[in-house]
Amino acid sequence: MAERVGFIGLGAIGTPMAVHIAETFPTHVWNRTGTKTTAFAAAHGATAAPSVADLVGAVDVVVTCLPTSKDVREVLEAGGAAWREGQLVVDCTSGDPGGTRANAAWLADRSVGFVDAPVSGGTSGAEKGTLTVMLGGEADHVERARTIVAPFAGKTVHVGPVGTGHALKAVNNALLAINVIAAGEGLAALVKLGVPGARAVEVINASSGRSNVTENLIPERVLSRAWPRTFSLALLDKDMGVALAVLEDAGVPSETYAAVKRMLEAARGRLDAAADHVEAMRVIEEDAGVEIR
Ligand code: NDP
Repeated sequence: MAERVGFIGLGAIGTPMAVHIAETFPTHVWNRTGTKTTAFAAAHGATAAPSVADLVGAVDVVVTCLPTSKDVREVLEAGGAAWREGQLVVDCTSGDPGGTRANAAWLADRSVGFVDAPVSGGTSGAEKGTLTVMLGGEADHVERARTIVAPFAGKTVHVGPVGTGHALKAVNNALLAINVIAAGEGLAALVKLGVPGARAVEVINASSGRSNVTENLIPERVLSRAWPRTFSLALLDKDMGVALAVLEDAGVPSETYAAVKRMLEAARGRLDAAADHVEAMRVIEEDAGVEIR
């Protein structure tokens, strides 16, 4: 019999992920802002749960996609006495390893399994169903989680025990942040030297300094001056903080991570709260007195 799935967190990336889930499994949804719950249920043939406890009581597997592990803990606790033996939580939040291990222990006390399953690939990857999913947990739980995330996944990898998916995701996003800042600073200088931004990017993308930032984000968002808002700077700054803590806890040098963390915080202070992560380059442009075009 098909697993009944509950999806919690209909945000920018959670919504397209939940669409694929609802196409595949009998699905219940819950979102903090209730109007999103009812609109989603009506549009995608899912059941709108009136509360987290109602959702937990009605399903076999709960998928969460929230800003932080602290938010995940709040909804787990809101499930109250509805949790029961044999259920599984698949946490697609970009969480932190320590909070995640504590959440897994809280669920284990109720005989509920837990897998951290953060995703990479952005809202466009979620829409296309091609996300990379990094799974942390016990092998049998991970195999069950793989079948749940399959509708929105292009690649699923079991990376280690609970918490390691979130550690890997944080490092990945730190590399994204470092690339955004490093490419922004370098391109601002080249434009000031008279090299058109598009020409500089063309050369870099045929050379060893290329990255997803130079190949996709800068052409689509910066050179075009489109600046779409798909993944907030606030969330990337959160991930950078998680990554910095992962390195510090592991006793690894973290000078670059610490510097970029400070820069993201400063950029957040100068942009509005809804700014996209790529808009950190607007702050570099402003300080350099040049537009990357
Ligand atoms: P959004 O800010 O768009 O959405 C956040 C969602 O979480 C909303 O549904 C919000 O509800 C809900 N929420 C927030 N706090 C709570 C709470 N305390 N209790 C219950 N619900 C809460 O975030 P995204 O969808 O962009 O990101 C979700 C996660 O996925 C984050 O961890 C992010 O880092 C990660 N991620 C995002 C990517 C992206 O491209 N956007 C890419 C890869 C990972 P409400 O509607 O009421 O505000």
